[in-house]
Amino acid sequence: TAPLAEVDPEIAQVLERELDRQRGYLEMIASENFVPVSVLQSQGSVLTNKYAEGYPGRRYYGGCEEVDIAEELAIERAKSLFGAAFANVQPHSGATANAAVLHAIARPGDTILGLSLDHGGHLTHGMKINFSGRLYDIVAYGVDPETSLVDMDEVRRLALEHSPKVIIAGWSAYPRQLDFAAFRAIADEVGAYLWVDMAHFAGLVAAGIHPSPVPHAHVVSSTVHKTIGGPRSGFILTNDEGLAKKINTAVFPGQQGGPLMHVIAAKATAFKIAASDAFRDRQERTLRGARLLAERLSQPDVAAAGISVRSGGTDVHLVLVDLRDAQIDGRQAEDLLHEIHITVNRNAVPNDPRPPMVTSGLRIGTPALATRGFGDAEFAEVADVIALALLPGADVEALRDRVAALADAFPLYPGLQQ
Ligand code: PLP
Repeated sequence: TAPLAEVDPEIAQVLERELDRQRGYLEMIASENFVPVSVLQSQGSVLTNKYAEGYPGRRYYGGCEEVDIAEELAIERAKSLFGAAFANVQPHSGATANAAVLHAIARPGDTILGLSLDHGGHLTHGMKINFSGRLYDIVAYGVDPETSLVDMDEVRRLALEHSPKVIIAGWSAYPRQLDFAAFRAIADEVGAYLWVDMAHFAGLVAAGIHPSPVPHAHVVSSTVHKTIGGPRSGFILTNDEGLAKKINTAVFPGQQGGPLMHVIAAKATAFKIAASDAFRDRQERTLRGARLLAERLSQPDVAAAGISVRSGGTDVHLVLVDLRDAQIDGRQAEDLLHEIHITVNRNAVPNDPRPPMVTSGLRIGTPALATRGFGDAEFAEVADVIALALLPGADVEALRDRVAALADAFPLYPGLQQ
């Protein structure tokens, strides 16, 4: 019963300082968000003690009455939120969800067609040293160098040439919406499964402001911690009963042992919140914020510094900044923004001339600030601060003051102590 500060003061201080950092900086990493206090409560609860291998009503351990209720709630809420017939809410993360999907619908050695990592795909979509690249025969499509968009003619050409078992539609760094119906038509033409990984844009889908992949894909995977703003974890949806059984077996015992019941309970809460009007409002602010940022970063003063926005704008929660023609590289830009207390991540752009640890791009997202309460006025202000920070001769002190004013106006976790 001794508190953390007493048992392990070093770790207690890490928690305290991290809370300060989250409060004092503006979080604009596109894959991050702030969970509500209710989610923190589940994740820090006694459910972490419970083994519950199996599924509700069919466990390999006793004493699962209460965690069964939590998992049933998470399943029912995920199904209703996304209009799917089946949900598996056990994946510990997006990566394990994806491993389970491939486990369910492909065999090692099968050909998989996905968006290449350096064009915005994810590690689990076929990166060479990821399990996906090691177990499967990967063919990658890219984005058009002129438009920065996925070219469906190219996807079809590759699908016809390589007859993949699985086609993946989904991304980690792409500022536009994919045409799920067109992907499905290609999958049907070549007899492939269509798997959509909506990890990034799931919150927009839940709010009804992004097309849903569920009616088109054989299987959909997602994280819960990006735009949805729930606990760090994953889930899988399908409308196909046969696939549902395979997915359950692939998650447990195929990929995982005991599910994280404290996280599953927190997922249930996150899905409940995601069905609310306040959630929809937050996703709308997220989208408008990204658009305001793209607009500001397309102004002549920014363009004159050789900085541009990939694809010329955004339809989602993030903006990809292209620094290939700028004096600063991705790492310098990330460091500059860090200096004024804005957190972003550098990101390779397609055909990046700089090495992966440096890169020529930035990925900037708005979900966490929307959760913090930002509306159009605040997003316009932060967009201006970012634009000025990236220009030569930026007044770092003045910009840091403007960031501090925004952070102070939207206190994070008021009253919370770690
Ligand atoms: N899928 C996509 C598209 C992602 O962007 C990510 C995370 O960046 C993942 C899967 C993996 O999620 P996790 O980091 O929870 O394993």
